[in-house]
Amino acid sequence: MQILLAEDDNDIRLILKATIENLGHVCLTAEDGIKAWGIYQAKGADVVISDWLMPGMNGLELCKLIREYSNSQGLTRTKVSLPGHVYTYFIFLTALDDSAHLQEGIEAGADDYLTKPLKIQELTFRLRVAARIMGLYQKMTGQAYELERLNANLSLEVRRDALTGLHNRLRLTEDLETIKASLKRYGQPSYAAIMMDIDNFKQFNDTYGHQAGDEALKITAQQLLANIRKEDTAYRYGGEEFLIILPHQSGQKALRVAEKLRQIIERLQISHPQNLPSGILTISTGVAELTPNNPWTLEEWLDAADQALYQAKQTGRNRTSLYR
Ligand code: GH3
Ligand code: MG
Ligand code: MG
Ligand code: MG
Repeated sequence: MQILLAEDDNDIRLILKATIENLGHVCLTAEDGIKAWGIYQAKGADVVISDWLMPGMNGLELCKLIREYSNSQGLTRTKVSLPGHVYTYFIFLTALDDSAHLQEGIEAGADDYLTKPLKIQELTFRLRVAARIMGLYQKMTGQAYELERLNANLSLEVRRDALTGLHNRLRLTEDLETIKASLKRYGQPSYAAIMMDIDNFKQFNDTYGHQAGDEALKITAQQLLANIRKEDTAYRYGGEEFLIILPHQSGQKALRVAEKLRQIIERLQISHPQNLPSGILTISTGVAELTPNNPWTLEEWLDAADQALYQAKQTGRNRTSLYR
């Protein structure tokens, strides 16, 4: 363990340091409370052994400071993958072994006390207890950290579509709530939605099988992801339907994006004999914008994009259409 020893008596300090090091620990020393506090902040400690009476800052004040500090640091430290000095075991070293002082020390946050004159065997035992407690703390912190990490991963996983890796409907529902809240707070900036659907995909499955269909869905999703801006978000909306939400984009601009994406899929030249007239895999898209001028709900907005998509399907597929 790393042990910080605060003791103003030179002889006691030197003897104790040697003893602690003999027991196999690292020992940092300070001759008063203020120096000990500085060292603690800079280097941390698993255990602090502190004299009670010292010039400048006494042991009681040091103990209170360390408790406040580790309380405020504890949580953030587990978050930064460093379950190191999450708790500091504090031992008072004192000739003042009357119960009033002890009570004060324990209330200030001390874990244990040693009385002067010090017996080496007693120090050995107390440090063994400290090591046991610190081991438990470290194990607990490690587990809490691991749990936090697993939770964060899980939270990402349940919001991702397993086949394509795109965001899923759950994530969409949450993102729409966020959009709703920001519309309420800041007024309505423009948003555009591109709804897309693979053309005659049922027949693609019928021809090549479901597994090939899955591959085609993955490739399509990858192409969408690779060709939108960082600010835009792509969702798997349904089986072979995708939705892209573009913040701060007009319908006209989003229409150009949709057309670009349609061409990118077309250029992949994935064979799809029943999808006539091209005979390759294509998508149809519908675009709708949400602006300060239209009083749509978000559901009505997505429904408008869906209607535009329907329009694109009706007028021959493999095309883009803007809701008007
Ligand atoms: P349209 O051009 O009108 O959209 O015709 P379509 O055949 O694409 O539309 P329809 O809604 O009739 O069929 C959609 C097909 O998408 C049916 C289903 O087999 C397929 N599909 C949906 N989800 C998946 C999936 O996860 N994997 C595979 N391989 N196919 C899927
Ligand atoms: Mg002293
Ligand atoms: Mg569909
Ligand atoms: Mg389809």
